[in-house]
Amino acid sequence: MSVLTEEHDLVRKTVVEFVERYVRPNSRRIDSGWYPLELLREMGRLGLLAPTAPPEYGGPGADYRAQAIVVEELGRASPSLATIAEIQGSMNFGLIYRHGTEELKERWLERLATGEAVSAFALSEPCCGSDAAAIETVAYREGGEWRISGTKLWITSGLYADLYLVFARTGRPEERHRAITAFAVERGDCVAASPIALMGLRGSGTAEVKLSECAVGDDQVLGQVNRGFYLAMEAINYGRLSVGALGLGIAREAMAEAREYVARRRAFGRQLSEFQSVRHAIAGVLSRAVSVRLVVYETARMADAGDAAFAAYAQVAKLEGSRLAVDATRTAMQLMGGYGYSTDSHVEMLYRDAKITEIYEGANELVLDRIYTLAERDRFI
Ligand SMILES: Cc1cc2nc3c(=O)[nH]c(=O)nc-3n(C[C@H](O)[C@H](O)[C@H](O)COP(=O)(O)OP(=O)(O)OC[C@H]3O[C@@H](n4cnc5c(N)ncnc54)[C@H](O)[C@@H]3O)c2cc1C
Repeated sequence: MSVLTEEHDLVRKTVVEFVERYVRPNSRRIDSGWYPLELLREMGRLGLLAPTAPPEYGGPGADYRAQAIVVEELGRASPSLATIAEIQGSMNFGLIYRHGTEELKERWLERLATGEAVSAFALSEPCCGSDAAAIETVAYREGGEWRISGTKLWITSGLYADLYLVFARTGRPEERHRAITAFAVERGDCVAASPIALMGLRGSGTAEVKLSECAVGDDQVLGQVNRGFYLAMEAINYGRLSVGALGLGIAREAMAEAREYVARRRAFGRQLSEFQSVRHAIAGVLSRAVSVRLVVYETARMADAGDAAFAAYAQVAKLEGSRLAVDATRTAMQLMGGYGYSTDSHVEMLYRDAKITEIYEGANELVLDRIYTLAERDRFI
C-alpha cells in the first residue's frame, strides 16, 4: 500500500511476531479477565506500546501509521490488549507530550512508553458519556492546589492505572465544554476503582473510578484551565483512528477463521466454500475491509503530515471500521455454525469484543453528527 513504507512493513513484522508468540496464546486468558500487564511491558521493550514516542522518552520515534499497524495486528488476537495499548500509546502519551508541563513529561512519558506505568483516560461519568460537556466531576482551588472529586465510569485500565487523565468541571455547569479542565491524577488514597462486568473486552481492567478530594498541583494541569474539553476531543480523534484500525484487525481475523472453516467443512456433498452465497458473504466483507484499510492508513498519513483533514477522516475510519468489525464477526459466526457460537472458537470472543467499537470513543451516532458538521463546514467531500 503506497502510504506505507518498508519501515512500516518492519513494524508489522515485529508486531505480528509479538502477537503470535505472546498474545495469541493468552487471548482467552485475557478474555477471562486477566489484565495483560506483563505483555504491556514486553510491548514497551519492543517499542510497540507508544510507537510515536521519541527516543528521549524511551520510544522508537515512529509515526501514526506505525501506531495503526500495532492496533490492527493486536486486535486480531486480543481487542482488550489493543484497546489498553491504544489509549496509553496514542491518546494519553500524545496528550501529555503535546500539552503536559515539563514536570509531567519528565515524570511520566518514559514510564508510559516503556510500560513501567499504566494510564487511563477518564472522561465518561454515570451522568453522561455521549454528552461529555455535561460532566459533573468538579475541581476547585484550595490552598494553592486543585481538589478533584467525582465519579468516572467505564474507564479502560481504571482498575490498574498508575495515572488517570481526569476531565473535571472548573466552572459553572451552564458553561458546559467551556469550563472543563484536564488534570493528571496519580493513583493514591483518594482514588477508589471497582471492576465492571462486561460482555466483551474483559481483560481491559474497565472500572468505575471514584475520586475523593484528590489534591493536584498546577504542574498537573494539561494545557490551559477551562480548555480541557478541547484536549479530550483532540485525543479522541486519535482514538477514533485507532478504533478504525482495531475494526480492520477484528474483521481480517474473523474472515480468516471463516475462510478456513468453509474450506474444510463439507455439506450436501460439497465444500461450504463452493456455495455461491457463502463466497459472496465473504467477498462482501473482504471488499469493505479493503476500503477500511485505505481509509485507516490514509487517515494515519494525514495525522503524520499534520493535514487539517485528519479530524474528518478519523471519524470515517471509526464509523466504517466499527461497522465492519460487527458485520464481519456476525458473518463469520453464521458461516461457522455451531462451532462459531462455541467458546472453542476465536470468533465467539471477537463477536463479543467487536460490539464495543460502535459504542466507545463516542457512540456511532455522535460520530455521524461530527461527520455531518465537518462535511458542512469543511466540505471535505
Ligand atoms: C468497555 C468500555 C470501555 C470504555 N472506555 C472508556 C475510557 O477509557 N474512558 C472514557 O472516558 N470512557 C470510556 N467508555 C465510555 C464510552 O465512551 C461511553 O460508553 C460512550 O461514549 C457512550 O456513552 P454512554 O454509555 O453514557 O451512553 P449514552 O450517552 O447514555 O448514550 C446511549 C446511546 O444513546 C444514543 N445517543 C446518545 N446521544 C445521541 C445523539 N446525540 N444522537 C443520537 N443518538 C444518541 C447512542 O446510541 C448511544 O449509544 C468505555 C465504555 C465501555 C463500555
